[in-house]
Amino acid sequence: MSAEAEAETLVAEAKPVPVSRFARELEHIHSSLEDVKSRVDALDATVSMLLEGFSRLEGEAGQAKRLYLIAVSIGEWKRRTCRYQRNGLCTAWRVSDGTPIPARRDESGVARPDVSKEPLLCALCPLYEPR
Ligand code: SF4
Repeated sequence: MSAEAEAETLVAEAKPVPVSRFARELEHIHSSLEDVKSRVDALDATVSMLLEGFSRLEGEAGQAKRLYLIAVSIGEWKRRTCRYQRNGLCTAWRVSDGTPIPARRDESGVARPDVSKEPLLCALCPLYEPR
C-alpha cells in the first residue's frame, strides 16, 4: 500500500494540543517549583538556626556540667570536714516531710539531710564550720 493510500485511511480523532497550553502548564510547574524552592530555602534557614542553637546549648551544658562537678567537689570536701556532719547526716539542719533533699531520721527521730547523698547542700551551705 502506498503512503497516499495509508494517509487516506488514517483519520485523526484527537486534535494536537496547542503549544500555548504546554507553555501555560510549564509556567504553572515552574511557579510551583519556585514555591517549593522558597519553602525549602526557608526550612534550610530554620534548620541552620536550630543547629546553631543546639551548638550554643551544648556549650552552655558543658559549662553547667563543669560548674556542677566543681560544686560537688567543694561540697564533698565541706561534708568531710564539717563539724555538723555525723555518719552522713547533717545535724545543723532539719528537713520537712516531702522535701526534695535526701533525708534520714537520726537516733532521736528527727529528719535530717543525708549529705552523703547530696553534696550540693554542703557546697551551698552557710552553716559550715570546720571540725
Ligand atoms: S556544710 Fe552545712 S549541710 Fe554540710 S554538714 Fe556542714 S552544716 Fe551540714
